[in-house]
Amino acid sequence: MAARRHRGQERRIATERMTILFRLAEREALLRHGGRARRYVDLARRIGMRYNVRTPAEFKRRFCKACGAYLIPSANARVRVGHGRIVVTCTGCGAVQRMPFYRERTARRKRG
Ligand SMILES: [Zn+2]
Repeated sequence: MAARRHRGQERRIATERMTILFRLAEREALLRHGGRARRYVDLARRIGMRYNVRTPAEFKRRFCKACGAYLIPSANARVRVGHGRIVVTCTGCGAVQRMPFYRERTARRKRG
């Protein structure tokens, strides 16, 4: 095993690496290099799992959890906003992701 570094530092580096990989994925996706983009997404997610760190917020909804494609609206993703949530459909595999969408910092709950 590699020499152990401070845990917190390792995780910070892991987050930085994930950000770099997602940026690369985005670039490849914009160039319509779907395969390469998916590879970068895959690497980034593996780092996240290994170091148990979350996907940086800015990239959280930018890839398909089912097939790993980096989603570019109008290229390989369909995005709909309505009823307080965002619905993202991956046109590659057809997976649908729904996420709550908060306009204000503290969302008022109407139901539940
Ligand atoms: Zn997909």
